[in-house]
Amino acid sequence: MPTMPKENPMQEMGRENLVQEESVAYNLEEKLEPLVKELWAIQSMSKKARAEQTAGCAALPLIWLDKMPEINGERGIEKVRAERNVLLLRDRVSPFIEQFQHPIGRCAKFYKLTAYNNCNFWCEYCYLYLTFRTQPISTHFINYEKMFDEIKKFDRSPIPESLKILNLGELGDPLAVDYITRFAKQIISFMPDHAPGTRLLFLTKSDCVDDILEVNHGGQSVISFSINTDAVFQQLEHRTPSPDLRLAAAAKVQKAGYEVRLRIDPVIFYSTWEKDYTELVDRIFQFVRPTRITIGEYRPSNGLASHISTRFPESALLKINKSLVKEGGKLRYHENLRIKMFGTIIEEIKKYGSTIDIALCKEHSQIWKALGLNMKGLKCNCVD
Ligand code: SF4
Repeated sequence: MPTMPKENPMQEMGRENLVQEESVAYNLEEKLEPLVKELWAIQSMSKKARAEQTAGCAALPLIWLDKMPEINGERGIEKVRAERNVLLLRDRVSPFIEQFQHPIGRCAKFYKLTAYNNCNFWCEYCYLYLTFRTQPISTHFINYEKMFDEIKKFDRSPIPESLKILNLGELGDPLAVDYITRFAKQIISFMPDHAPGTRLLFLTKSDCVDDILEVNHGGQSVISFSINTDAVFQQLEHRTPSPDLRLAAAAKVQKAGYEVRLRIDPVIFYSTWEKDYTELVDRIFQFVRPTRITIGEYRPSNGLASHISTRFPESALLKINKSLVKEGGKLRYHENLRIKMFGTIIEEIKKYGSTIDIALCKEHSQIWKALGLNMKGLKCNCVD
């Protein structure tokens, strides 16, 4: 059990460090804006007809570009609009499938499949602002033939079964703009015939699932929803469907035979966190019975703050960051506070039975131990 700091961190964090109710700076109007206003495509791409067909079906303008768009000089919400109100369609030249390696080994070495770079939602804490700082335009790669060849090869490779799952949610939200790309049903239905030993993992905040309900998924696709309290959703997860809408979507895909997992991540400390996260767990079980719930706290990289402040200069996260401690290359809540918050959520989940796997995301072993969780035979969100 970690030692207590000199003072209780929950007392150290005064109101100025909480998510303030008045910080709902981006009102509901933004939710009425379409996520994507136009599609862009690069002239030199191989699948021009596919780009045109996508734009035609979605009834969106398609703008052809000679070269990759450069970083824009905007600031604030105009910057987010310039980066995330468009969707760039292009070829992926790098491999679609790559192994994820956590820099300090706090995560399984899972495989990611990059169908999207970046996202069209506007979560203030999104680490992709940092990841894609030099190419911030939300992108979908449409040379699917190369992707499907790689999936077939991956399926035949001698990779341990527990890692034979391709994570589509590491570098973007794979369902956020599926109503435009209609890509999910193509890849899901590809798997049973062409890669029967491999599963797909969709990690999403979207409720855009109607297109995949009738698909022959062969039990090979897992749909994992990232979920949070109403306060976090309203203040930090702009233009995403509400937690209730996500849970309703989870119920729909579960009924369609998909395995459903949930992530409660990022857990954020604020004035009513205890009541809100407890109610969130109760709300989950009114809709759905997930096989796994993985929990993680708000943990920005050192470099993320400047990218948040460029886009959301009033963000409550900037105040929260000041109260965090450096640990493992990230800023995190003090471990006693993490244990307190995770413990509260775990106890509530346990009330709903012992068959649900509970895991922590990128946490060190003492925290698992302090919470009575077993890291052996890891069953977290991203492994099979
Ligand atoms: S849904 Fe995920 S990828 Fe999209 S903006 Fe939010 S945190 Fe980023």
